[in-house]
Amino acid sequence: MAQLSDDCFAFGGPMMSVDEAVGLITARVNAIVDLETVALVDADGRVLARDIAAPLPLPPFTNSAVDGYAVRNADLPQAAEQAFPLDGRIQAGGLAQAPIKPGHTARIFTGAPMPPEAETVFMQEDVRIDDSGRIVLPPGLKPGANVRPAGEDIPKGQVALRGGQRLRPQHIALAAAFGLVRLDVVRRIRVAVFSTGDELASPGEPRATAQLFDSNRFMLMAMLRRLGCEVSDLGILRDERTSLASGLKEVAGAHDLILTTGGVSTGEEDHVKAAVESVGSLVLWRMAIKPGRPVAMGIIGGTPLIGLPGNPVASFVTFVHVVRPTVLALAGALPEPLLPIPVRAAFTYRKKEGRREYVRVFLRKGQDGTLEVTKFPREGAGLLSSLFETDGLVELGEAVTGVEPGQSVGFLPYAGLI
Ligand code: AMP
Ligand code: MG
Repeated sequence: MAQLSDDCFAFGGPMMSVDEAVGLITARVNAIVDLETVALVDADGRVLARDIAAPLPLPPFTNSAVDGYAVRNADLPQAAEQAFPLDGRIQAGGLAQAPIKPGHTARIFTGAPMPPEAETVFMQEDVRIDDSGRIVLPPGLKPGANVRPAGEDIPKGQVALRGGQRLRPQHIALAAAFGLVRLDVVRRIRVAVFSTGDELASPGEPRATAQLFDSNRFMLMAMLRRLGCEVSDLGILRDERTSLASGLKEVAGAHDLILTTGGVSTGEEDHVKAAVESVGSLVLWRMAIKPGRPVAMGIIGGTPLIGLPGNPVASFVTFVHVVRPTVLALAGALPEPLLPIPVRAAFTYRKKEGRREYVRVFLRKGQDGTLEVTKFPREGAGLLSSLFETDGLVELGEAVTGVEPGQSVGFLPYAGLI
């Protein structure tokens, strides 16, 4: 499992910026080195274990990009159209029988290998056939037009997939284009997930009047799975230090990360901090993020722990900005920074300097057709509707003190967050 020394997260300040916190985590966690081999069909979302150099060029042979007629460059009509006798026919998957003869053209189809000596292809739409069946080619076509040279996409031997790449369908396409059947990937990161709180009941169990069903745990587990993790659902821990402590300690050795939600504030019934301190060490940083702070980070028996806040929106936002990069670092994945897209604000907002804020927004086309964002009308960090009705988050950096309509702001669509 991911082993960390107890003091590796020691830090000086009382309130850590998001970038500092994430920089610290990603620099200090030890990436998992255990590998496994998976079939291509099972590789989506997995982290590639090592670089893959192209075992063959792509395309593997020089071929026609269109349906048309192939000629030698020396024969390209210069000033006036010119008629060429037909010499050969090459279909996709077939091979030319002989080099193309000077002054001749060959019928060729998209994807078919170029006949030896032929270098340029005329699109069939651009030619006509004269009365004697010759192909009349227009002047002015550039040498090499409509041809896909071998290796133009990827030359043989070039590192085409990098170790640490989180595989998406397009990477799997590339591996298949190389003829690979299996890929070596990093084993799934094992994450233990707990909710904490006496007010919580698990869906499917009886709910007392003063209880609500635990929604965070299911949201977080779904997010973790999207990141390729293997999740242990460990249910709800009560707001009581010793049972919290033993619950956390029990799972530490068998997991790469422990994730909790709730109980990290400084209220009398927030026991996660004390529980972690009793069985490991805790570096609680009050992270300068809203919604969010506080977020706890600790180490139990060498296993990192992240304690997210209980309010669902805070839990969601801090997962994206703290847990996501941690999981990627544990998997040895290449960093995938979230880059907000500039859009026009159609709302007013006041903000405290010195912390980063995320505003839930709708993305719409404005009257002039430009994309703009409007704010969800209510503020509460507990409003699930604010997460599923909106389209994403506007990121307001530490230095920002407010937003005025018309201003450009950075938008993070939910679809790109996980
Ligand atoms: P806490 O961070 O423990 O003080 O929790 C803050 C608030 O978040 C609680 O009052 C609950 O309303 C809510 N909450 C905490 N944990 C969960 C959870 N697992 N699912 C849904 N809501 C939660
Ligand atoms: Mg609580």
